[in-house]
Amino acid sequence: MVIEHTPRTAVVTGAGSRRGIGRATAHALAAGGYHIAVLDLDEEGARETAREVAARYGVKTSAHCADVTDADAVDAAITEVEAALPPVGVLVNNAGITSPTPFLDVAPAEWDRIFEVNVRGGFLVTHRVAAGMVERGFGRIIFLSSVSAERGGGVFGGVAYSASKAALLGFSRSLARELGPFGVTVNSVAPSLIDTDITQGRLDESHRAALIAGIPMGRLGSVEDVAEVVAFLARPESGYVTGATYDVNGGFHIH
Ligand code: NAD
Repeated sequence: MVIEHTPRTAVVTGAGSRRGIGRATAHALAAGGYHIAVLDLDEEGARETAREVAARYGVKTSAHCADVTDADAVDAAITEVEAALPPVGVLVNNAGITSPTPFLDVAPAEWDRIFEVNVRGGFLVTHRVAAGMVERGFGRIIFLSSVSAERGGGVFGGVAYSASKAALLGFSRSLARELGPFGVTVNSVAPSLIDTDITQGRLDESHRAALIAGIPMGRLGSVEDVAEVVAFLARPESGYVTGATYDVNGGFHIH
């Protein structure tokens, strides 16, 4: 089977974060030949990722300041992407937030915000780009879930985070069934603790050491560990993998 490589754009949400999974993913996707559009609340971070990736790989890039929970902002950003770059072939739903608040202390507003960003954000961006993918008969949609969804927390994020990331597994599996007939694959990646700024300094050393002690590979994951798996799922050649969850957890959770 001959796989066609036409110029396509990968949209990566939350790729502004300097030490984050999204930025490393933007690099890995560009190394694989995709043009890159970065959506983030952090405008300067998004611009920096776009500049960095364009300079290193010679692909086209664009940066868009958008809150993924805001339907109008998402629509405007994707409209700009469509005007500036080749057709969108890949979406990585990476923007996400976490919180370690114990369940009994979680206020409804905190619960809602976590679901807004992690679930509604994924819905809005996916909904906006999926129609074009279906029309063109090609798409690769990848969700950043978490090992917390699979094992019931026990990493850093609390119940709200775990529940929101589990929602993404149902979302991606169900969407995989609907969009498969149109050449669009939908998969999830479930990392364990990756060394980024998402914990905002709230992970103390003893907690970190205890987590590492339970990881057969003997270390926390790196952003590149995750980015390489996302880039694999995004390849045109990965068209027979859909509805799957790829664990990137160093053996922390084996099931
Ligand atoms: P990070 O905090 O470094 O980066 C997240 C990015 O998302 C930031 O640039 C932030 O500005 C952006 N963002 C947050 N809310 C947004 C919104 N409403 N609209 C647009 N952008 C928004 O996080 P990370 O560690 O790189 O995590 C990336 C993804 O991977 C998240 O979905 C996270 O849940 C998931 N994940 C992370 C880990 C980990 O240990 N770091 C483990 C499992 C899953």
